[in-house]
Amino acid sequence: MKELNPNESYPCPICRSGKVESLPLMEDTFSCQFCQHLFTANFSQQILKVVDSEIPLSWYWNGKKWSSPQRKGIQLGWGYVVAAVFFILLPPLLVGTGAFLFPPVPGTPLAWLPLAWTILTLLTHFGIFLWLVAEYYQFPVVMYLRAVMRRNDRAF
Ligand SMILES: [Zn+2]
Repeated sequence: MKELNPNESYPCPICRSGKVESLPLMEDTFSCQFCQHLFTANFSQQILKVVDSEIPLSWYWNGKKWSSPQRKGIQLGWGYVVAAVFFILLPPLLVGTGAFLFPPVPGTPLAWLPLAWTILTLLTHFGIFLWLVAEYYQFPVVMYLRAVMRRNDRAF
């Protein structure tokens, strides 16, 4: 548990591969040595803001990791995990149970539909869940992919 301060390095909230450190003589400016993004730090609010991006992203440092400044102080407890599992599994389970209790006549043209519908329900709910997680952690998907691709370019 450490506070956001100019003397330490922190995991980069964009590429999640590099470390961000304050620049020499510029305490409130941080840069990532890996993806080269620049940030300004607000130490009183424990917030890091990206400066060289068209998307105005900022992150709140909770002492261990970055999260969304709008959800400052809210921890993802077990209640959220249980809710997420229900949210992902319950709808496809209901659809699947319906298909199981009232099975389609085998060989009829739409016999595949209940199973496909169950899988589709599962996938869409899982997608929504992933989107919510990305939103919560202010995880910049596009910027992250760009940084990863740049790393791969370098490797070859
Ligand atoms: Zn980075």
